[in-house]
Amino acid sequence: MSKTKGYAAMTSKAPLAPYTFERREPREHDIVIDIKYCGICHSDIHQVRDGWSDYLEESIFPMVPGHEIAGVVSAVGGKVSKYKVGDKVGVGCFVDSCRTCTSCKSGLEQYCLVHTSWTYNARDNEGVPTYGGYSDKIVVDENYALRMPENLPLDACAPLLCAGITLYSPLRHWHAGPGKHVAIVGLGGLGHMGVKLAHALGAKVSVLSQSLKKEADAKRLGADHFYATADPETFTQLKGSFDLIVNTVSAQMDWNQYLNLLKVDGTMVVVGLPEKNIPVGAFALTAGRRSLAGSAIGGIRETQEMLDFCGKHGVTSDIEIVPIQKVNEAYERVLKSDVRYRFVIDMASL
Ligand code: NAP
Ligand code: ZN
Ligand code: ZN
Repeated sequence: MSKTKGYAAMTSKAPLAPYTFERREPREHDIVIDIKYCGICHSDIHQVRDGWSDYLEESIFPMVPGHEIAGVVSAVGGKVSKYKVGDKVGVGCFVDSCRTCTSCKSGLEQYCLVHTSWTYNARDNEGVPTYGGYSDKIVVDENYALRMPENLPLDACAPLLCAGITLYSPLRHWHAGPGKHVAIVGLGGLGHMGVKLAHALGAKVSVLSQSLKKEADAKRLGADHFYATADPETFTQLKGSFDLIVNTVSAQMDWNQYLNLLKVDGTMVVVGLPEKNIPVGAFALTAGRRSLAGSAIGGIRETQEMLDFCGKHGVTSDIEIVPIQKVNEAYERVLKSDVRYRFVIDMASL
């Protein structure tokens, strides 16, 4: 076992504070990663505050959050073949899965039918609690690590490991590209990656945000149009406009209103994970043969494809670097939709 320094919430809703814990000794296929940067995802806040208690079997405290982990390999197990010491690597939302079910076999480890070991607030295949990336190192099987783009800054690539793949996967699955009009709802960490990626894929992109405050930013990120949802006129004007809506909103909202903005045969994909159920009316779907779908991150293969795509197209996250001592303040700003557009912790501050 090796001592690891990090920040944890000791109990539900407690502020994050310094915490020391143990990581396993590297096994044959493990790599040890010296963590340089970790993004702050809204999911970290939901979980630290036990906001998903209606859906999760358990929340495990002390909780070390963080699943947008970027760093450098510092040691490798005897049978590691994919990485060597010094490689720039990343870890996203999961660190293991059953490896044998149909989902795992088809590269959809996030939908493992047996057990996905999430990067934190979960248990590994042996039942040991997992601890995330707000820490100085992590030990992970080489098959669950990713290779970071060589040509892009590591700090601005950390958010690709959750925010990036969470948008890339549905945009690809529902064929965002030339001739398609895509709406991104909510311009936060996920949303701003959605704008950049949908634009890079060649789609026409509209942003639906609560106010007009982020309009200039959205246009710079690649949006063609921008609308404020506080203005009721938006929902009249845009009726039947979109082939695809990707909804990244973290809070309760009326999904029916947004379904009405789809073209015939359009799809709204929910990626935001509000803490309570949201009712959907049958008429919002039957009118226009519309679909309501959901999507969770992406598998290892697709996450690597997304990182390579970002390397090729020069896509990174717009980040605000924070020292780990400011993590609780950063959380408050995320909750106020006041982040431009992802906080990334500089682990040198630990
Ligand atoms: P974020 O940075 O806080 O962005 C969420 C955005 O939603 C905000 O910037 C805001 O955009 C909008 N919003 C917030 N409160 C709202 C409200 N009351 N009404 C309408 N719009 C509101 O969060 P994030 O890190 O992008 O994560 C977003 C959600 O996705 C979270 O629930 C997170 O847990 C979930 N998530 C899901 C997956 C997945 O695999 N499915 C992966 C990662 C995260 P505007 O300022 O533009 O209105
Ligand atoms: Zn996340
Ligand atoms: Zn599986």
